[in-house]
Amino acid sequence: MEPQTRQHDTPARPPFRFALPDRLRAALAELRRTQATCDDVAPGAVTLSLGMLAGYLTPDGRVIAQDAFAGGPPYEVADEREACFLVACGADDRAAPELLGLLPPRPPGAAGCRWCGGQGRERGTGWPCFECGSLGWVRREAEQSVAPDPRLKAAGGR
Ligand SMILES: [Zn+2]
Repeated sequence: MEPQTRQHDTPARPPFRFALPDRLRAALAELRRTQATCDDVAPGAVTLSLGMLAGYLTPDGRVIAQDAFAGGPPYEVADEREACFLVACGADDRAAPELLGLLPPRPPGAAGCRWCGGQGRERGTGWPCFECGSLGWVRREAEQSVAPDPRLKAAGGR
């Protein structure tokens, strides 16, 4: 029998981290100069998106998020797809398509995202797809949820 406490003792996952190429660092520094500071939430970071699901990209490639839909303090994003989603939102919201260069290439064996039909964009709205992180694919078919994440709607309201 599983110990009762197990589900409550899940250790914190390490933050997901993008490798930032030098040319993007320069673009990020420039983007940061044009923004209101977000140093109170994520020191040195660039604001990717604001609103229901706010996202910030730190100089060392971590993504800090604040989910007004679920509440709670800002957190380091551990999930690759959530990190990619926020980067895609940033590319849209900040008119910074160079951010999309951070998104990983589709690996062999990946499954097409069933929620966006592999487009990486929600049908109808054109917003980044939360289910696949706007990638259009997931690493394993089993990663797909049976129902869209409620933050799909939250993020859509940003
Ligand atoms: Zn998708």
